[in-house]
Amino acid sequence: MTVPLPFDNSYARLPERFFARLGPTPVAAPKLVRLNRALAAGLGLDPDWLAGPDGVGFLAGNHVPAGAEPLAAAYAGHQFGNFVPQLGDGRAILVGEVVDRTGTRRDVQLKGSGPTPFSRRGDGRAALGPVLREYVLSEAMAALGIPTTRALAAVTTGERVYREEALPGAVLARVASSHIRVGTFQFFAAQGDVEALRLLADHAIHRHYPEAAESARPYCALLERVVAAQAALVARWLNVGFIHGVMNTDNVSIAGETIDYGPCAFMDEYDPATVFSAIDRHGRYAYGNQPRIAQWNLARFAETLLPLLSGSEAEAVAEAEAAVAAFAPRFEEAYLAGLRAKLGLATAEDGDLALGRDLLRVMAENRADFTLTFRRLCDAAAGPEGDDGVRRLFAEPAAYDAWAEGWRRRLAREPLDGAERARAMRAANPAFIPRNHRVEAVIRAAVDREDFAPFEELLAVLADPYRDQPAFAHYADPPKPEERVLRTFCGT
Ligand code: AMP
Ligand code: MG
Repeated sequence: MTVPLPFDNSYARLPERFFARLGPTPVAAPKLVRLNRALAAGLGLDPDWLAGPDGVGFLAGNHVPAGAEPLAAAYAGHQFGNFVPQLGDGRAILVGEVVDRTGTRRDVQLKGSGPTPFSRRGDGRAALGPVLREYVLSEAMAALGIPTTRALAAVTTGERVYREEALPGAVLARVASSHIRVGTFQFFAAQGDVEALRLLADHAIHRHYPEAAESARPYCALLERVVAAQAALVARWLNVGFIHGVMNTDNVSIAGETIDYGPCAFMDEYDPATVFSAIDRHGRYAYGNQPRIAQWNLARFAETLLPLLSGSEAEAVAEAEAAVAAFAPRFEEAYLAGLRAKLGLATAEDGDLALGRDLLRVMAENRADFTLTFRRLCDAAAGPEGDDGVRRLFAEPAAYDAWAEGWRRRLAREPLDGAERARAMRAANPAFIPRNHRVEAVIRAAVDREDFAPFEELLAVLADPYRDQPAFAHYADPPKPEERVLRTFCGT
């Protein structure tokens, strides 16, 4: 069989101790649930071939195409603060890399593709529910403009996987700028394998931050860029109400993309203590903790690079500490820029952060819906006749009125007129996010009734999140009390 996949695999050229070479385990009866045709075309892959029997066989792991050099990558990681020296791809296979239409190298990985030497006690498989959750969430993030891995396809396997119950099995084909994680560096650091660390760092620089190679101190430049990318990423998460849920160091991408969607979710009512993940009992990865945790993860990354940094050990530590400390100001800057855009502020004044924080505090006190408050604020920015829609989201509407007085005084010092401001704000405040109850409903329909129509409709709405879509206005609604979903599961 000849297969039109133009693989060019750079990770597979690294030393053998970086991975285990093996292919996916074939499945009984692959069936395509969805192919992301636009993404496929952007990768230079033929969507019609992918949707045909050979393509679906490839997406399910039944055919390994010519040019693929499949492997399971080795990595370690801190899970909920505890170091595990060996994790690795326990249910994923990197099939290969392709260079996309923009010249960017992208990994094509199959998740749920069978056991590997890193599976520990797991079965190497994925259930349909979590595959659909990752598909919806990652594509929603992409449409929101937030760096993320992408979903290329979902297939069902015709096999059952056993969790608490028997569930339909599935494979997600996902695309990433790379799957290099903080945990990949930790894997070699824990073994004192400085040669591997250097090769990995060089690979990451070449692939993601080529300008760092020009620096006099390239490994410090790598660290600084990863810090900057994570600061920008987590700021974007906070600005849309996203909670990753499992910010373990093995789930932190060196490329700065959102990766490893497990029990992640978007917040409805604003509360910085919000946690959905059933396994996050102490709220380590709560919405408002995410910046602090990101910095902690980056400190772990910095530690792995110490042997590569120049000068004495004390100098290396000082260099690493300075680079990690830069997270806080970078995060604040990115977060504030996002908040200003959300509030309709095109200029910068000293009190802007306080103004935004005041709104968030009042929202928390009044259990206001995060996404809807900001979306309706766009109407209020056009003129006070828009206030009513926002007020109604607050348990005590007068609390909004009090805040809005100060906001209007601030807007009066802005150059744009109301209509222009409202338009700019709608590009910063989405109408549509993958609300948890919608995601759950989509999963239930697919898993219980093999009905994928709700999944398709939700994806279509989320593909255009910043535009009002009157026919789908109900997708912007928060859950009714009986629809609320308070817990999410990683389903592994
Ligand atoms: P995750 O929670 O998806 O970030 O995964 C954490 C670790 O557990 C990684 O090493 C995964 O490869 C592994 N893992 C998760 N689910 C499974 C599974 N069903 N079978 C084998 N390994 C798994
Ligand atoms: Mg993971």
